[in-house]
Amino acid sequence: MIPAISWQIVAVTDEMRYFCSKGFEVVTPNNESINIKGSLAAILADTPAGHQVMGMKEEVGFAFRKCSHCLATVEEIKTKTWEEDFTLRDTATHEEHCKELTEKL
Ligand SMILES: [Zn+2]
Repeated sequence: MIPAISWQIVAVTDEMRYFCSKGFEVVTPNNESINIKGSLAAILADTPAGHQVMGMKEEVGFAFRKCSHCLATVEEIKTKTWEEDFTLRDTATHEEHCKELTEKL
């Protein structure tokens, strides 16, 4: 490894290890303190596959609701952070959307 960048990589991996094992505290809008832990993954994919991995629709360019899980619009993605702020897709919503698509065929 090149010495000039090796210390930077060590610093990042140390921080990622800490984030994975201990996490950090976040206060929600309801004043609830939660601990968030995480890890990092890299995925190589074309756009449709990358969107699918992230839970987005495969082709989101013209979609009104970009995410198939939280049904977020572009404006909501820019302004909202918490899951509670979105209308999550459930079985009834999914079946309603399938019915609408079937009726249009
Ligand atoms: Zn979403």
